[in-house]
Amino acid sequence: MQKPCTKCGLSKALDEFPPRKGSPDGRRGTCRECVLAYRRDWDAKHRGVDAAARFPSVAAFDEAHGDVQDDTTLVNAVLAGGDALAAFGVPIERECAEALLRTGSVVDVALELRLAPRQVRAHLQELRRRAATRGYAPACDMTKTTPEGFLVKGVSTYYRIDSETGASVPVGQWVKTKSEEQHQLAALLDAMSGIADAWKGRAEIALAPEAVDEDLLAVYPLGDPHLGMYSWAEETGNHFDLEIAEQNLVVAVDHLVDLAPPAKQALIINLGDFFHADNVMNTTTAGTRQDVDTRWAKVLRAGIRTMRRLIDRALEKHERVYVITEIGNHDTHAAIMLALCLSQYYEREPRVVIDTSPAKFHWHRFGKNLIGVTHGDTVKAKDLPGVMSCDRAVDWGETLHRYWYCGHVHHDSVKEYPGVMIETFRTLAPGDAWHRASGYRSGQDLKVDVLHREYGRVNRHIIGIRQVWDRVQRATDAAPA
Ligand SMILES: [Zn+2]
Ligand SMILES: [Zn+2]
Repeated sequence: MQKPCTKCGLSKALDEFPPRKGSPDGRRGTCRECVLAYRRDWDAKHRGVDAAARFPSVAAFDEAHGDVQDDTTLVNAVLAGGDALAAFGVPIERECAEALLRTGSVVDVALELRLAPRQVRAHLQELRRRAATRGYAPACDMTKTTPEGFLVKGVSTYYRIDSETGASVPVGQWVKTKSEEQHQLAALLDAMSGIADAWKGRAEIALAPEAVDEDLLAVYPLGDPHLGMYSWAEETGNHFDLEIAEQNLVVAVDHLVDLAPPAKQALIINLGDFFHADNVMNTTTAGTRQDVDTRWAKVLRAGIRTMRRLIDRALEKHERVYVITEIGNHDTHAAIMLALCLSQYYEREPRVVIDTSPAKFHWHRFGKNLIGVTHGDTVKAKDLPGVMSCDRAVDWGETLHRYWYCGHVHHDSVKEYPGVMIETFRTLAPGDAWHRASGYRSGQDLKVDVLHREYGRVNRHIIGIRQVWDRVQRATDAAPA
């Protein structure tokens, strides 16, 4: 079967049109060539980069947009909400909603705003959530909004069945509201995405490396970095502060990127407790006082800068860099903030994918490999195989090599369970006064794993703390005075 392209007018076979679930024939109206040409033109005009090099073929374009989904429910909900729904959003969500009202297609919005379709979906879902907490969700017959400062706690709509048409017609509604204090986390997340907006799209677009190995994934697990921790040598045997933490991480990852093969994909895993304290009171999320080096806001800033430097370094060697930010018991809120800031910063860099899920478990699938990530403070190791097989049943069935990457305990351990290896990692941070006094004496290092698409883990490189110190020393000596 053939149809004409709405852009070039040429009649082409159906499979020349990118798929779009929800359209009558399951295909877009514009052919692949035209979509690709549009994208190349846009890049050349607005970014001055050679888009042809990044999307060299129709196949590569399809791969970049491989996440084809049925958007009917989402699109209908946004269309039903119209401008009134869009008004509830932060700027990027408003932009997405307004573009969708014009084009009616998530993929078209993505092309217009230079986002990946999955980013557009996430923004629109977040907009719906934001509006619904204020009482606005016309697709669900919810249109009575709450006053400023109140959020919806519950809505009951009662319907009667129309005797002629058999359709259910809403006849009344109870709206229960509650004050925003009770929604602290939601309010905090709102505030955070407002702050993160300032970072939006600020990343310079880096040129992709030329030759990469399609079959390899380089995994960089960052064991509990504990940025902002203070350790006094006389008390603990090791001096440690914010500057040393940043320097050590950057130098160690720089060396590991050198050692890693040019894998097409990289996965940077912050294993949790990236920050030592979670608030200006310098306590963990639960309220335990910590030995800190300096002001909390300064630590946040250094933390975001450190992650950017690690990601930028990985981009020099790997074509695509995935980032998982695990949520630790020290930094539950700050970790969510870190992921949001990074995702905003790299919003227009298609080679970086930041996982912003605030869940305690994160996943990465690569060929026959399945990786699970968790900090380790909320679940026992023996339960992790069950969590993986339940939460990722399909991936579990389709993979042969399964790994859990865990932090929290600050020491190396690996145990093989039926079907999955569970490993905990060391950290580059020394113990603080409490750890030392409690008898903990683990080694300090950082690792990079190399995974083959078919064969699982095929290599691992390690940099120990003494090698890090030597490299820091050499870098300091070489620096101009
Ligand atoms: Zn820790
Ligand atoms: Zn921890």
